[in-house]
Amino acid sequence: MLKCREFIDTADALVEGELTVRQRLSMRLHWFICKHCRRYLSQLRALLGAIPFMHKPASDEEVERVMRGLRSADEHRDGGE
Ligand SMILES: [Zn+2]
Repeated sequence: MLKCREFIDTADALVEGELTVRQRLSMRLHWFICKHCRRYLSQLRALLGAIPFMHKPASDEEVERVMRGLRSADEHRDGGE
C-alpha cells in the first residue's frame, strides 16, 4: 500500500500524466481512502491550473472581473447576519 509521503512525492508526475497504469492504480487507491491526499491533489491541480495566469499580465477584463468579485464579496459580507 502506498504511503502518504509516496503519494505526495508522486503527485506531480500524476498530474503531468507521466505515470504507468500500475502506478496510477495504486495512486487512485490511496486517493480513494485518504482524504488528506485527496485535498493535497486538488490543491496541486488548482495550483498548476493557475500557473499560466502568473506568466502573463492580467488583461483589463480579468482585472475588472476580479474587482467585481471582490465588491460582491464585500456586499455579501455586509448583508449577512
Ligand atoms: Zn495519504
